Amino acid sequence: MAMAAEASPILSVLGARALAASNPLPFRWFDATHNGCEILVAVNGRDPRHGVDSIGTEPAVLNTHLVIERWKPDLVVSAGTAGGWRRSGGEIGDVYVSDGRAVHHDRRIAMEGFDEYGIGSYPVVVVREMAAALGLKTGVVTTGNSLDESDDDRRMIVASGAAVKDMEAAAVAYVCDLHRVPFMALKAVTDLVDHHEATASQFTANLMIASRRLAETVIRVVDWCAAREVSDLR
Ligand code: SAH
Repeated sequence: MAMAAEASPILSVLGARALAASNPLPFRWFDATHNGCEILVAVNGRDPRHGVDSIGTEPAVLNTHLVIERWKPDLVVSAGTAGGWRRSGGEIGDVYVSDGRAVHHDRRIAMEGFDEYGIGSYPVVVVREMAAALGLKTGVVTTGNSLDESDDDRRMIVASGAAVKDMEAAAVAYVCDLHRVPFMALKAVTDLVDHHEATASQFTANLMIASRRLAETVIRVVDWCAAREVSDLR
């Protein structure tokens, strides 16, 4: 998870316990058990230089790698908030689960082979049955290191058909792909990119509600997963 505010409701519903700090790295790790599942909540923490949450791909990669090496999880979930689009039926507070692939929309490399490398297209676990049972929306999750959407970003997003836009999922999926660990993204919509109101003010206004929805969904997803092997997720 990227932001402390996104993680806070999940940590309290799980009754999670803080583990020793990962000094000098800012990451904050918590553990909990729920319904027989062992859960490690890895939050990217506060950037020591800039004093804000460590959002974006670099901290996401580093934290994911450390967590996989140390705890060898059966499944990694990139849980957080995201932008949606009115044109694809997105609404504030919707929770999407990744479907198809996780991609990047801000890595444009017009050279043979590198164009596809830039997009990434990392695998995600197929959970359509879970999505239908839990009433979650599904779609491609697309990641970039900007909150806004440039014209170039928009072209790549339209081409991938992505349903939600965040700043971490594809980075986490990249590390999971290297380690061959199953991956999914759960993203609660804080803002609608094609709405006249500025993304940043929508984000701030809706962060609490979306994070609460995210926490409820994480619990239901854990309940669904607890009853199954990862290979039986559908
Ligand atoms: N201005 C905010 C920063 C939030 S950045 C603040 O100061 O609190 C947005 C974070 O939420 C990122 O971690 C990203 O994954 C997610 N996010 C939500 N809406 C997004 C959008 N429209 N585009 C990209 N990321 C978004």
